[in-house]
Amino acid sequence: MITQAMISVEEALERVLSYVHRLEPEEQPIADALGQVLAEDAQAGFDIPPFDNTAMDGYAVRAADTNGASESSPVRLRVIGELAAGYVFEGEVTPGTAVRIMTGAPVPRGADAIVPFEETDETSTGSAGSAAGHRFGAFAKASSDVGVLKAARPGANIRRAGEDVRRGAVVMQEGAALGPAQIGVLASLGRATVRVYRRPVVAVLSTGDEVLDPGQPMSPGKIYDSNAYSVSAMVQEAGGIPRRLGIASDTVEALTAKLREGLDPSGSAQGRADLLITSAGVSRGDYDVVKDVLAKEGEIDFWTVRMKPGKPLAFGAFPAADGRRVPHIGLPGNPVSSMITFELFGRPAIYTMLGKTGWERPRVRAIAEERIENSDGRRVYARAILSQRDGRYHASLTGPQGSGILTSMALANALAVVPEDVRAIEPGDEVACLVIEGGGLSQ
Ligand code: AMP
Ligand code: MG
Repeated sequence: MITQAMISVEEALERVLSYVHRLEPEEQPIADALGQVLAEDAQAGFDIPPFDNTAMDGYAVRAADTNGASESSPVRLRVIGELAAGYVFEGEVTPGTAVRIMTGAPVPRGADAIVPFEETDETSTGSAGSAAGHRFGAFAKASSDVGVLKAARPGANIRRAGEDVRRGAVVMQEGAALGPAQIGVLASLGRATVRVYRRPVVAVLSTGDEVLDPGQPMSPGKIYDSNAYSVSAMVQEAGGIPRRLGIASDTVEALTAKLREGLDPSGSAQGRADLLITSAGVSRGDYDVVKDVLAKEGEIDFWTVRMKPGKPLAFGAFPAADGRRVPHIGLPGNPVSSMITFELFGRPAIYTMLGKTGWERPRVRAIAEERIENSDGRRVYARAILSQRDGRYHASLTGPQGSGILTSMALANALAVVPEDVRAIEPGDEVACLVIEGGGLSQ
């Protein structure tokens, strides 16, 4: 059934999300899990750090030995050994002795403070007879001594076992999204793999007799397929695995064949698609066959979303060869429209499949530098350049806002949003901006 009611962006999003759900967990190497979501509680099997260790290069001492030390009357200690990070000193720091020690090395038995080199009379770190060139990182040292110039408090410059994470603690809970720091924490727990919700495989299909794959020779009346590439890149950035199905010409037969082949689970080593994204063919033109094919073969809603650019949008499910119904988003053909509708509906769908809950972009209020028009009561997403000046954000447009002008998208780091009921934003007015470029702003 085809319905063509005009619906709000929020309502469209709700309908899109009603077709998708979180995918099942998989065990993933941690290095490949960026942007995925934990399907387990990550628990520490041991303390981190695992042992008391020194935070400084210096000397491991008994703090009591250094009482009263000063520049004018240094306390002299006998150096009984050297210890590099990665080794254990087998002996013991007894009264009147010290071990020369490097950052990260375990604090030797008997020692309760580290005196940094700067607080000793050792001027350079490369003292005679140091560990340099020695085969082992821990060894007893022929007699030499060191002058301590300042009293050390017990515990000084020692990082305690478990001060970061206690053995048995749940460090990150199920549902946590993995960024670089979270992946680092998993590595510090000794985890080579982690249980996360699977990434969706997203089939991306372009349609249109005029569309050519880049690399093909240009010919009259044709244009290169930019949508498959911009949308695949957005899929990847969102955490999905894009799989380009190529281009289907504007006939029911060609499109049906491409969809069947593309969604055939035996057809690709990358696995079956969890989501299908097509571009173009959803308007009212004579050759806009996506909607016809989907209306016939699958289940489709055909909407007009109250937004600009990108108002025609289709959503439904297409039957795959194995009987699954693959959710389908039919993006408009215009290159800017397809990117912005993907941003508003495709990215949340992928996040939902990944198990992520929030997909709101950072939103800032900026001073409009130009007039931004809203001619017909839709919500306008204008391509904007957000910059910071005098402690405020300013938004200027990237140029002509036609939905075919893809370079205007390439220049933008934000979308300035004009609400449905606002006729125009005037220069100097405040405008809400969605930050779309990596969260960082050019100055
Ligand atoms: P349609 O939705 O089929 O009416 O297409 C709208 C506009 O988008 C037309 O100017 C198409 O030529 C253009 N278009 C369609 N598909 C693509 C594509 N894959 N890459 C770039 N432009 C496209
Ligand atoms: Mg077309």
